[in-house]
Amino acid sequence: MGKESSLINKALLEELMELRHFLHAHPEVSGNEKRTAAALIDFIRPVSGAEMVSRVGGYGFLVVFDSGIPGPFLAFRADMDALDIQETVDRPYRSVHTGISHACGHDGHSAILAGVARRMDDHPLKKGKVALVFQPSEENGEGAQRMLEDKKMREFSPDFCYALHNLPGFPLHRVVIRKDVFTAYAKSLLVFLKGKTSHAAEPEYGVNPAATMALLLHAAGKFTRNRPADPDFTVITPVYARLGEKAYGVSAGYGEVHYTLRTWTEERMDETARLFQHLVKKQAEEEGLTAETAWKYTFFPTLNHPDAVEHIARAARSAGLAVTEPDEPFKWGEDFGMFTRRFRGAMFGLGSGENTPALHNPDYDFPDALLTTGISIFTELLKNHGLI
Ligand SMILES: [Zn+2]
Ligand SMILES: [Zn+2]
Repeated sequence: MGKESSLINKALLEELMELRHFLHAHPEVSGNEKRTAAALIDFIRPVSGAEMVSRVGGYGFLVVFDSGIPGPFLAFRADMDALDIQETVDRPYRSVHTGISHACGHDGHSAILAGVARRMDDHPLKKGKVALVFQPSEENGEGAQRMLEDKKMREFSPDFCYALHNLPGFPLHRVVIRKDVFTAYAKSLLVFLKGKTSHAAEPEYGVNPAATMALLLHAAGKFTRNRPADPDFTVITPVYARLGEKAYGVSAGYGEVHYTLRTWTEERMDETARLFQHLVKKQAEEEGLTAETAWKYTFFPTLNHPDAVEHIARAARSAGLAVTEPDEPFKWGEDFGMFTRRFRGAMFGLGSGENTPALHNPDYDFPDALLTTGISIFTELLKNHGLI
């Protein structure tokens, strides 16, 4: 990374590390990113020409740089929320909030975009416009939609949108790109089965959901085709189940089964959801149960536009970074899918080290070495599109 010194100066890098450590020490879960947003806004506000649009879809905000000269409109997006996970490593900037930590590295993603903003101070745009999108509530899949539905984003129609996610398991600084699907379509299905309790000695007078639940738990495996190379890749995972009460004289009259469903495409998800819900209904009817279903935590697939991926590959090469193209998409859900569903764009990965703990692990910490790397790619993207 010989380009580090010319990209951002040492003083700014130190400030960015301090910012990242502050965010890490004060993590806030989805929907509560008040202090996080305030810290980022304070950090960016002094930049000349930065138009701040705050409180967008909750604590989300935009930083807009508009040259006033016709040209491409780019959007770079970072997420800000942390997780309900107790940090287990004692570091100088460990989380001060019990049970909450930045185990997905969103502190790093936000710090990178803050760095992009500060760099604009002495590298103004020649043409076009760029919006830095600081998104809340990524982890529950709600933030992107809330922001995009906010009337403050009515004019938001970027030609390209980009985002990154740090990726443990890949070499540090490695740029991970993929055309088409980058991350899975993932959503959660909740099934509620209502029957009738009776004396445990006389189950024949009640309607116990146990047999239906057993069948529906088993059916998850029948629907699953856990082969990522298969375009019809489908995973239905039971995540939670409950039946009756710990009342040993009573035959259960109520049960719940919760699942997450994963596919690569919307078509496959819609078809799977339709068939599975049909099975729930049919089985419940046969047993005399009332079935209700609900959906939660929807993450649309991140669909990477080939032109956007080409721009990232070029940017990575210009920044002197190695690029990897995995054969298969990632099985996790990512709320950036809501952006690629509406606009041309792409997400790329940034390797955070092969022996780094996995994301959402209690000992995870975003590597500070990636701050400059992330800024360099976004900077090269601005150059690629002719904005600087
Ligand atoms: Zn996460
Ligand atoms: Zn994440």
